[in-house]
Order: sequence, then C-alpha cells, then structure tokens
Amino acid sequence: AKPLVAIVGRPNVGKSTFFNKMAGKRISIVDDMPGVTRDRITADAEWLGHHFTLIDTGGIDPKSDDVLLSQMREQAEIAMDLADVVCFFTDARDGLTEDDKDVANILRKTEKPVLLVVNKVDYLDLNENLYEFYELGLGDPIGISSVNMLGFGDLLDRMIELF
Ligand code: GDP
Ligand code: MG
Repeated sequence: AKPLVAIVGRPNVGKSTFFNKMAGKRISIVDDMPGVTRDRITADAEWLGHHFTLIDTGGIDPKSDDVLLSQMREQAEIAMDLADVVCFFTDARDGLTEDDKDVANILRKTEKPVLLVVNKVDYLDLNENLYEFYELGLGDPIGISSVNMLGFGDLLDRMIELF
C-alpha cells in the first residue's frame, strides 16, 4: 500500500490550502450522498516517483472552543493511528500558539515520524519567525507558503526520506 501522510494542526493554518495545491486538478468535490456535499479529504500525490496518499484531517469547522480542543485531539490521534508520516502544520504569521502546543503534546506520544511545517512563509523575512517553533521539540521547522507553493520541494524531500 502507498504511504499515508496526514496533515494535522489547529484551524486556519492552511492545511486545506496545502492539500488542494498538492492534489491539483485531481481534487474533486465528493457528492456521493443525496443532499450531502463534502470536501474530499484524501488525495493521491507523487514526488520524484514516490506515490503517497495525503489526508486532510481538518474538514469539520468547530463550533466552540471546547469542541475545538477535543476535535484537534481526535484528529491528531486518528492521524497518529493511520498515518505513516504526520505533517504538523503551524502558521508563521500567527507564530507559536497555545493550540499548537496542545497538538504538539499529543503528537509527541507517537512513534510515527512528525514533520513540523510552518506555513505562510510567503516572503524571506518571515523565515525569522521559524525559530520560536524549535521550542516544540519536534525537530527543524520547515517553512513553506501554500498559497505560493514555496518550500514544497524541501518538505517533500524530507517526507519521502521517511517512507
Ligand atoms: P485550515 O483550516 O488549516 O485548513 O486552513 P485553510 O487552508 O482553510 O486556510 C486558512 C486561511 O489561510 C485561508 O484564508 C487561506 O487562504 C490562508 N492561507 C493558507 N495558506 C497560506 C499561505 O501560505 N500564506 C498566506 N498568506 N495565507 C495562507
Ligand atoms: Mg481545512
């Protein structure tokens, strides 16, 4: 079976934007039940001949802070169970947040490899914002910009090393 790569992180860090860029035009809206339209959450992807499946774990919008925390925990736990590699997404513009630390504390318990991704590094100056993420103890933060598709090569190189 192809390796499974899960994208986790608190809402609004850009998980779905990254997922959609990776899925490209192969992405489609799944409409398999009458009256139900859901965004697709898995997509086949490929880098340098390595084929893998991406899962976007953050499809549901939280209604309250309480739900948010339990949902983030649930998504992280599902990802840890299913995935071969976990991509933990954070946001360079917001910097490191308490919610990021909550997700990190869950991910720390897994034996699975975790890649720490700092999204929204849209221009070079924002690289300075990467340093505070070392505090999470999850290795070197990898800066990317999902809207501009910057840094994807470095991230994908690191990913396929873990398959
Ligand atoms: P999710 O909740 O983690 O899935 O986040 P989304 O993919 O829905 O993105 C949340 C917001 O961040 C949207 O307004 C995106 O356009 C924006 N966003 C995503 N990636 C980037 C990026 O690389 N740079 C900037 N500036 N904004 C981004
Ligand atoms: Mg999303």
